[in-house]
Amino acid sequence: MPRDPRYDPLFEPLDIGPVTAPNRFYQVPHCTGMGYQRPQMLAAMRGVKAEGGWGVVCTEYCSIHASSDESPYASASLRDEDDVQNLRLVSDAIHIQGALAGVELWYGGHTSANLYSREISLDVASLPNQSTLGGPAQSQAMSLADIDAFREYYRAAARRALAADFDIIYVYGNHYYLLHNFLNPCFNQREDGYGGVAENRVRLLREVIEDVKEIVAGRSAVAVRYSIPPDFDDDPQGLIECFGHIAELPDLWDITVNDYHLEMGSSRFVREAACQAAVARLKALTSKPVVSVGRFTSPDTMLSQITAGAQDLIGAARPSIADPFLPRKIDEGRLEDIRECIGCNVCYAHNSLAVPIRCTQNPTMGEEWRRGWHPERIAARHADQSVLVVGAGPAGLEAACALGQRGYRVMLAEAEKEPGGRINRESRLPGLAEYARVRDWRLGQLRRMTNVETYPDNRLDADSIAELGCQHVILATGASWRSDGVGRWSNRPFAGCDQAEVISVERILRGELPRGRVVIYDDDHYYLGSALALLASANDCEVTLVTPGESLAGWSHFTDEHHPTMRALIDAGVEWLTAKGLVGFETGSVRLECVYSARPSQLAADQLVPISARKTDDALWLALDRRRDELAAHGLLSLQRIGDCRAPGMIAAAVYAGHKAARELGCEQVEFKRDRVVV
Ligand code: ADP
Ligand code: SF4
Repeated sequence: MPRDPRYDPLFEPLDIGPVTAPNRFYQVPHCTGMGYQRPQMLAAMRGVKAEGGWGVVCTEYCSIHASSDESPYASASLRDEDDVQNLRLVSDAIHIQGALAGVELWYGGHTSANLYSREISLDVASLPNQSTLGGPAQSQAMSLADIDAFREYYRAAARRALAADFDIIYVYGNHYYLLHNFLNPCFNQREDGYGGVAENRVRLLREVIEDVKEIVAGRSAVAVRYSIPPDFDDDPQGLIECFGHIAELPDLWDITVNDYHLEMGSSRFVREAACQAAVARLKALTSKPVVSVGRFTSPDTMLSQITAGAQDLIGAARPSIADPFLPRKIDEGRLEDIRECIGCNVCYAHNSLAVPIRCTQNPTMGEEWRRGWHPERIAARHADQSVLVVGAGPAGLEAACALGQRGYRVMLAEAEKEPGGRINRESRLPGLAEYARVRDWRLGQLRRMTNVETYPDNRLDADSIAELGCQHVILATGASWRSDGVGRWSNRPFAGCDQAEVISVERILRGELPRGRVVIYDDDHYYLGSALALLASANDCEVTLVTPGESLAGWSHFTDEHHPTMRALIDAGVEWLTAKGLVGFETGSVRLECVYSARPSQLAADQLVPISARKTDDALWLALDRRRDELAAHGLLSLQRIGDCRAPGMIAAAVYAGHKAARELGCEQVEFKRDRVVV
C-alpha cells in the first residue's frame, strides 16, 4: 500500500548543517550493552535500523579517553585506530542503507568510576562518584592544564569520528556528565574563567563545540545533547540562560530533560511525548533543527510534533528497538504492522546488567549478527508440515506468528476464551495497560494469516493432541504463582499457607480484590508486588509490602523503575518492610523473620498475598513426553515445550522462546556466533 499523504511531512528531507537527513526519523544515541566489546553485533543492529527507514542512526555514547570509562557497562569507544576500524563497521552498515550515521562523543567526569582503566576521573570539582559501583571514589578538580588536555581529547576524537566516516558528531552536554557539570553552579564553584556567571559556566561547552566544528570543517554536522529541568520555570542551574549563549552554535540540538525517570520513563509512570514542554521552551530560542525523544510510537503523534513545529526530527530509542522498521511501515501504509514499544524498559535493564540489550516486543533485537535474525524476514518452512501450538500466552502467540510467517500450517489452541495468557491478567493491573500490546500486535498479525487457525476456549489433553495428528507439537502452557511462599528466600512452605485468608496471586490476577489490612509478601522483586500493592490500596486496603530483599522491587533498579515505584507507593500510602522473610500466618497476624538476625516479628493482617516463585504448568508435557513413541508412530516428528511451562521468566523471555522455537523448527540447531576480540 502507498503511504497515506497525511504523513508526507515525516518523510521530508532536512538539512542538518552540511548534511541532509533523508527523512524525519532519527534514532538518537542509545546504549546497547554491546559497545566496544561487540562491534559486529552493534554494526548489524544499527544497520537493520537504517534498513528499516530511520534516516539518521546514531551510536551509543563513545568514550573519548581512558579516564572516561564506565566498565562494566559497555560503552562504545573512539580512543584509537582500532576503535575507528570497529566503528567504521557501524557507519558502513548505516550508509549502505542510505541513512546518516551519528556518533556520540562522551566524557563522563565524576560519573565514570574508571574501574577498568584505573584512571582518575576529572570533573569541574572533586565530586563523589555517582555510580553505585564506584564506591567511595571522588573525581579530581580539573586544572586549566587539564581543561586544555580535555579539549584535545575531544578534538582527537572528532578527527577519529571523521576517519570512521560519521556524518553527525555529538558533543555531550547533559546527563550529569562533565560538560553538564560545568553548567551547574552547585557543582561549579570555580573562581577562574570557567566558573561564576552563566557565560563562564558555559565557556567549556562552547569551546568544545567550536573545537569540534573547527576539526570537522563542514565535513560533518555537529550536534549537542542538552537538557533543562522538566519544570523549567524553576531553573536553579540557569540552563536556559546558558543555552542562550550557544543557541546558534551547533548544527543540531538534541534536547531532553534533567530527569531520567521522565526522559526514559517506563509506561507504568510516563506517557508518550512527556518532555515536550521543555523541548518547546528551548526550540523557541534557536533557529537550528531540534530532535527529541518521547517514546513516540503513534504516527499521528509524530506527525503532530512536526506539523506543530514542536521539533524537527522524531527522536527515538525504544520505539526503534521494538520496531526497527517503524518508518518503513508508515511509508508503506502498513500502520497496523507497527510493533509498538510497551515501555517496560527491559532493553535498558540489560544494558544496566552489562549484557547486550533485548526487547520484549522484538525478539530479534541483539540477535541480528550472532543468530542472523532479521526483524522482518524469516526463512520459509522447511517442508509442508503442520504445527500445533498449545497455549496462547506470549510464548505461544509469538511461536504461532513466526511459524505462520514461515508458511507452516499452524493450529493455535488456547484453554481460555481470550488468547493472551498472563498478558490478559497482568495488563489489567495499575500502570501495565501498555503490556497488552504484546498480545494485540500478535493477534493482529495472526488474523491476517490464512495458514494459522486459532482455537480459543479449547483445553487440550494428551488424547486430543494425539488425535489431531500434527507433525510438530509446541507446548506453551505457562506457569502459575505458588501460594505457599516457596521461592528465593525459603525452600519450605510457610506455616499456615493453607489458611482461607492467604490469597494467591492467581486469584487476584483473575479479579478477586484484597480487603482490609493486607500484607503483600514480595519474594519476586520485580513489578508484580508493587502493582498488587497499588491495586489493593486503590481498593481502600491498608497495605504493607514486605520483602526479604534489601530494597522493594529490587530488580526494577535495572529498569530504572525503582524510584518512581517508591514514589507511587508512598503517594498511595503503602507501608513497607525490607529484609523480612515470611515464616507463618495465623488469623489476624503474619509472622516474619529478620533475614540477617533471624529475630522474629509480627504484623497485623486480615489477608496475606504471598508472591514467591511460579510452578510450571507442565502436566501436559509430562503426559505427552511419556507417549513419545506411540505419537511418533502416528506421525509426530517433534515435541517441545517453551516459555513459562519450561522455565518461568519475564515476558521477554517467553516471546524470545516462542520466536526461537519457530526459527529453529526443521533447521539444524547451531550455537550463536560469538563476537569477541581474538588476538
Ligand atoms: P507464557 O508466558 O509461557 O506464554 P502464559 O501463562 O502467559 O505462558 O500462557 C500460557 C497459556 O496456555 C494460557 O493462556 C493457558 O490458558 C494456556 N493453556 C495451558 N494449558 C493449556 C491446554 N492444555 N490447552 C490449551 N491451552 C492451555
Ligand atoms: Fe520498549 Fe520494552 Fe522493547 Fe525496551 S524492551 S524497546 S521498553 S518493548
